[in-house]
Amino acid sequence: MSLTNRILLAMLAGVVLGSLLNVLLQGSLAPEGLRELLNDYLVAKNGLFDVVGRIFVSLLKLLVVPLVLVSLICGASSLGDSARMGPIALKTMALYLATTAIAVSIALFFASLVNPGAHVELMSAANFHPPAPPPLADVLVDMVPSNPVRAMAEGKMLQIIVFALLVGYAIAHSGEQGRRIGSFFRDMEAVVMKMVEILMELAPYGVFALLAKLFATMGLGAIVNLAAYFFTVLGVLVFHALVVYGLLFRGFTGFSPAMLFRKMRPVWAFAFSTASSGATLPITLNTVERRMGVHNSVAGFSIPLGATINMDGTAIMQGVATVFIAQVYGVELTMAALMTVVVTATLASIGTAAVPGVGLITLSLVLQQAGLPVEGIALIIGVDRLLDMVRTAVNVTGDVAVSVIVANSERQFDESVYLSSESLQADDLEQDRAPTI
Ligand code: ASP
Repeated sequence: MSLTNRILLAMLAGVVLGSLLNVLLQGSLAPEGLRELLNDYLVAKNGLFDVVGRIFVSLLKLLVVPLVLVSLICGASSLGDSARMGPIALKTMALYLATTAIAVSIALFFASLVNPGAHVELMSAANFHPPAPPPLADVLVDMVPSNPVRAMAEGKMLQIIVFALLVGYAIAHSGEQGRRIGSFFRDMEAVVMKMVEILMELAPYGVFALLAKLFATMGLGAIVNLAAYFFTVLGVLVFHALVVYGLLFRGFTGFSPAMLFRKMRPVWAFAFSTASSGATLPITLNTVERRMGVHNSVAGFSIPLGATINMDGTAIMQGVATVFIAQVYGVELTMAALMTVVVTATLASIGTAAVPGVGLITLSLVLQQAGLPVEGIALIIGVDRLLDMVRTAVNVTGDVAVSVIVANSERQFDESVYLSSESLQADDLEQDRAPTI
């Protein structure tokens, strides 16, 4: 069975087993002793699922900094002349911002049609205190690292991008020495990519453990009360990923998006089970470079940048949530307020960290700007984790689609790799690793 299928099967098994455990643990079907045993040894903190899941996420995260650094250094140095960097950066940024603004607008439109908050009672327990957002000047200054080692130790993605671009540019302009160090980084990239592929073989186990734990502990009852909100967000997320991106992709590249979505399946599985674009980054980058044929001069820049600032799925949740909360509190949203929501949700998605649940925190910025009570966030916390998993998958879809579109327009794209239908085979890895005597 191909690795992709094994990952998808493990996802399904995790969801089914987790949901069964949930029923068993919540209800009185099993004797108390058995429930305690299952909970302690499998589900609870330090249980089997928790330990395997945490190890898996750490393994993913450990690759993020080395991979982004070497991939971007290779990409920037191979571009050689800096004149090419400008258009790549501009197109990438423009597409990231435009698609996010489209995403919020669609979310506002559908939410205004569905009226998800129309019949929801305001709970008096609503209670949420958001942290204060940092001033914009700090955000800009914070992009430039004063100490690259600290930037890497703290995993500050934008700082690492700035540093790597600078190193890559300098390598391209350092003559013979530059060529030597450049070839070192290319070798490093091959080695780190190989680490990603080795790790992917563990994915079925990791994905299974993460999902089994999550579904065993998740209170799905909350969905019933918030069904209209939940399914509006879900519907817009799926629509945006498949229809909006599908059309944009075909329009810009002329290729069918079917292959894109097919090759995205393992990336979706990682995004869904970790709910973190950041932890999924190594898989996204590997897929885009190795299986979709995007040259690392584009992928090394657009994928880490996208994981950090391009969050269409998050913006969609924030759009629907704003309409929902306005309706629950009986506040009319004017056209001006809706425009404000489009702008602030686009900016908030830039400021959302690529880890689970942060979209809900930056939602407070959007609500504040729209003049809505921030405590309203407490109303939707109950169903947020599941939506977080789906919106993270949408977030990475945007990164990948934009990366291929930009690479194609800049001729940094190998069409034959994109069109080759070879699936992700565990056997390939086995062969690669076999000793060559
Ligand atoms: N979990 C999302 C991501 O990593 C961010 C969010 O919306 O909370 O992309």
